[in-house]
Amino acid sequence: MSARVTLHCDRLFEYSGCASQLITDARSVEAAHAAGERLGWLVRPDGTTYCPRCSGSARPRPAAAVIPLHPPTKETDRA
Ligand SMILES: [Zn+2]
Repeated sequence: MSARVTLHCDRLFEYSGCASQLITDARSVEAAHAAGERLGWLVRPDGTTYCPRCSGSARPRPAAAVIPLHPPTKETDRA
């Protein structure tokens, strides 16, 4: 079996829905949900899914560039 399960963001806006989707190679919806949750997707008990941006639970990914707003040594430099 090489079924693919795609999670779609169920967030609805006033005139359209969110187009985010997550394509997984999971063999079951449950496995796809688990994979999505690891990536910040929100999976509701009723089966609806929300992408990290819409669920508000987005966590910084290790691969994402982090732009520091404050140099970490700023406070200690003032000593
Ligand atoms: Zn979304």
